[in-house]
Order: sequence, then C-alpha cells, then structure tokens
Amino acid sequence: MKLKCKHVWEHISEYIDNSVDAKLREEIERHLEHCEICSAILDSTRNILVLTADERTFELPVGYSKRLHERLTKELEGSEKDSKKE
Ligand SMILES: [Zn+2]
Repeated sequence: MKLKCKHVWEHISEYIDNSVDAKLREEIERHLEHCEICSAILDSTRNILVLTADERTFELPVGYSKRLHERLTKELEGSEKDSKKE
C-alpha cells in the first residue's frame, strides 16, 4: 500500500498527536522520507501545534502559508485523476 499526499494530510494532526495506529504511522513516515511537500507541511504544522499546544486546539493545519496551500491545491487536483474512489 502506498499513501498518497492527500491521505497523509488527512492524518497529519493525528500523526503529530501520536494517535494514528502503528501501521499507518509507518506508512506516513515512509512517505515523508521521499515527499518534500508533506515534510514541509509536517514542519509547518508542528510549528502551529507548538504554539497552540496549551489550548489543545488541534484544528488541523490552518496555518500553512498561502503559497504552500496553493501548491497543495494544485497537487491535489493532479492526484484526483487517479483516485476517484470517494
Ligand atoms: Zn506527500
């Protein structure tokens, strides 16, 4: 099974919060090793979570930079074609 970026994004806050199961965690880590985009998201999301940790506001990555977000949207559109399942 190979994770798509979209899949990683859906679980990234749980991943940081350590609430994904071991198997999924392993898949995400494997994906992060070779995916620059998801690594960048993880970094920026972590920064957000550090800032909001006291309040425990895990509202998902609200804070990515606009530029990164646009890049993601583009990526997402590109990957929609080969994953029409949902
Ligand atoms: Zn990725």
